[in-house]
Amino acid sequence: MSIEVHILGTASARPSSIRQVSGNLVSCDDGIVVVDAGEGFQTRFFEQRKRMKQHEKYHLKPSKVGALCLTHGHLDHTWGVLPWLQSLALDNRHQPLLVLGPTTSEVIDALTDNQSLPVDTHKSDLATQYRFWHQLGATTTGLGYPIRWILGAVESGRWIEFLEDGQIVELAEMPQPEGWTNNRIGALPTIHSTPSCAWQISSASSPGKFNRTRAKQLALTEAEQGTLASGIDIQHNGELLKSQDFRSEPLSPLTVVVSGDTAEMAPGITALEQCSLLVHEATFLDDFSEKAADYLHSTASGAARTALACSAGHLVLTHYGARIRHTDELIGEAMKVLASSPISLSAAIDGDRILVEDSGDVHHLHWHGDGWSC
Ligand SMILES: [Zn+2]
Ligand SMILES: [Zn+2]
Repeated sequence: MSIEVHILGTASARPSSIRQVSGNLVSCDDGIVVVDAGEGFQTRFFEQRKRMKQHEKYHLKPSKVGALCLTHGHLDHTWGVLPWLQSLALDNRHQPLLVLGPTTSEVIDALTDNQSLPVDTHKSDLATQYRFWHQLGATTTGLGYPIRWILGAVESGRWIEFLEDGQIVELAEMPQPEGWTNNRIGALPTIHSTPSCAWQISSASSPGKFNRTRAKQLALTEAEQGTLASGIDIQHNGELLKSQDFRSEPLSPLTVVVSGDTAEMAPGITALEQCSLLVHEATFLDDFSEKAADYLHSTASGAARTALACSAGHLVLTHYGARIRHTDELIGEAMKVLASSPISLSAAIDGDRILVEDSGDVHHLHWHGDGWSC
């Protein structure tokens, strides 16, 4: 049930010589969630897949991607979507893909009433981009694999689907990727200049480990062990053996949150009761905190305050403005906020992986050009 995040771009707004724009993979036992896909996303996904084959022998198969979750419509987060969807078609994908993104209640009202979009709709609203991508052939018929286009007013929990014939239907709830059983995706309201949300991937809690050593000591048969493991007590040599005595404590669910662009203290994130890993934007340093507030972005210390508010286990910083040269500066400012907390902290570079183990322990694996190191 462990969850691993791959950070494929740490630049905000535009790429630099060492940083690409946003794109993340969240890999869990049900499959992969892509969170944002800025320009060049498919090339970076391909490159990361190659690195994993070479160094780790575990595969990031594109066929395992069950959902594309967009945090908002700014192009540095969406410009790579259409080329990637088309490449999946060229690779003969047949697995279904769910596309999820945020919009406003006003847009949902207009679309479900068959009206044109309200005049004050933000120019980056995903409703406009969904329609544009549809026109360019990103439909089930056009691509040749089942694709569902879903938008939600995240705060009010209203979700709509763009059907292939141009119809819009309202859904009872946000759908989950087809066939996923152990992990759930959730949208959390954030604060940005266009409709936005963070994405949460949570694993179900799992039962503790079955104590095989004890079962062996008692010389239990495979059948008896199976019964105990399934939660049923048994009689053995006249003694009652309770199934609960053969299991360690259940493992708590894991929760991974990827913020997208947001001002600090986004309500959806601070409301969380549990968060194993928070991947949060840190566009500015403290000397530009006014600018961060104006543009509805976070500073590194703002990301740290958000991590404190949701009692995150670990905070990873990403999405750096062009003025930020060294991640040490970000770490220094965030560390001041977290100094007396148990929250651990790291800053991502492109290609890094963050592994959240079943126990909740987090390891940040840094890409060094020829493999990863802790
Ligand atoms: Zn951005
Ligand atoms: Zn943005």
